[in-house]
Amino acid sequence: MVFNYLLPYTNLIFGEGSLKSLGSETKKMGKSALLVTGRSSMEKLGFLDQALRLLKKEDIEVFHYNKVLPNPTVEIVDEGARLALEKNCQVIIGMGGGSAMDTAKAIAVVAGHSKERILSIWEFSPALENPLPITEAALPVVAITSTSGTGSHVTRYAVVSNPETSEKPGFASEYMYPRLSIVDLNIVKTMPPELTARTGFDTLAHVLEAFISRKSNPITDLYCLKAIELVTKYLPLAYQRQDDMEARYSMALADTYGGWAITAATAALPHAMSHPISGYYPDIDHGVALAAISATIMEFNIENGDQKTIQKYCQIAKAMGKQVKEYSKKEAKKSIEALKELCDKIGLTVSLGKLGVDRNKIPEMTKGVFRTMRRGVENNPVPVTESDVESLYNKSL
Ligand code: NDP
Ligand code: MN
Repeated sequence: MVFNYLLPYTNLIFGEGSLKSLGSETKKMGKSALLVTGRSSMEKLGFLDQALRLLKKEDIEVFHYNKVLPNPTVEIVDEGARLALEKNCQVIIGMGGGSAMDTAKAIAVVAGHSKERILSIWEFSPALENPLPITEAALPVVAITSTSGTGSHVTRYAVVSNPETSEKPGFASEYMYPRLSIVDLNIVKTMPPELTARTGFDTLAHVLEAFISRKSNPITDLYCLKAIELVTKYLPLAYQRQDDMEARYSMALADTYGGWAITAATAALPHAMSHPISGYYPDIDHGVALAAISATIMEFNIENGDQKTIQKYCQIAKAMGKQVKEYSKKEAKKSIEALKELCDKIGLTVSLGKLGVDRNKIPEMTKGVFRTMRRGVENNPVPVTESDVESLYNKSL
C-alpha cells in the first residue's frame, strides 16, 4: 500500500483552561488580530471578554468581527476580510463553532491574497472552473473551538455558502491549517444538549466516512476506529449531562481525531450529499442534514460494496458495540442498527421530509453534489451516478 500523510503545522493545545495560552501564543504570529465570532454565544458565555483580555495583555491590537451566522456566506467572509485589510490585521482568530472557525480561515485567505485589489472568497471557490489558487500568502489562523464538532480546528477545510447559487463548497488548502488550535473543555462543556447531539453526529459522520473512504490509510483508520468507539459511548452521556467532563473530554478528542481523519482521508458520500441540503436550505444544520441521510447511504454502500468495504462496515459495527460473527453483508448492516440506536438516544431521528426538503429540489441538489463536492463522491467506496444520488435523497425523505 502506498499512501501520503501530510503532518500539518498546527500547535494543538487541549484541555480545561487551555484558552489562557491564547495571548502568548498569538503574539508569536503578529501584533494585530481580527477576532471572528458568531453573534452571541461567546459573548454571553463570557469567553469573548476572556479572549480580548488575554490578547490585550500581550499588547496585541484586537478588532472584533461578530457577524458570523451558521452556514456562513460569501458576504460574511468578504465583509470580515475588508475589515481585516482596513485594520491591517496580521492574524485571524476564529472562536466558536465550525462556522466561526471556517469564516476565520476564509478571511485569512482573502485578506492574505488581496494585494493589487480586494478579492472575494468566491474567486477561490472549487465550484469554479479556474479558481484562484490558495497559497502561502494566506494569513495565519488561530482556531478556538466551542463545539465538538466539525474538526475545523485541525483541518485544511473551510465551508462557505453562496446564496446566489445555493452552493456550499468546502474550500481546501494546506495553507488553511490553523497554526494554533485551542480546545478548552470549559468552552465546549457549555454546549446545550441539542447542539451537543448535532455536532457530535458530525464528528461521527467524519470518522465513519473517512474510515470507508478510498483515501483511508492505516493512520486515519486508527483515528477513526477510536473515535467511533468514543462517540458511541460518550455522546449519549454528554447529551444527558452538560458537565460530564469525561464525556466532554472524550467528545473533544473524537472531534480532533475526526478532523485529522477527514483532512487526510476526506469524507465520502454523506458529506457530499449533505452540503447541497444546507446550500438550498440554510436553516438545516450540517449535523442534522447528515443524520437524515447517513443510514440510507450506509445501506447503499453495504449492498453494493466490495469485500473490503463490507469488512470495514463490520469493523464499524464492532466499534459501535455490536457482536460481529463474520465479515458478511448481514453482519455489516449491524453498523446501521447501531447508528439508528445512537440517533434515538440523542434525539436525532430525522428525515429530509420532516426537515422540510421538497422532492422537487432533489434534481438540483443532485447536480450540486457533482459540481461542488466531487472529492466526497470520488472517495466513496462505491462509485455513484446522478441517478443513485437522486434515489438516495428520495429514500431519505
Ligand atoms: P455553528 O458554528 O454553525 O454554530 C451553531 C450555533 O451554535 C450557533 O448559533 C452558535 O451561536 C451556537 N454555539 C456554538 N458554540 C456554542 C456553545 N459552546 N454554547 C452555546 N451555543 C454555541 O456549528 P458547528 O460547529 O456545527 O459548525 C457547522 C459549520 O461547520 C457548517 O457550516 C459546516 O458545514 C462546517 N464544517 C466545517 C468543517 C471543516 O473541516 N472546516 C467540517 C465539517 C463541518 P453563535 O453564532 O452566537 O456563536
Ligand atoms: Mn462535517
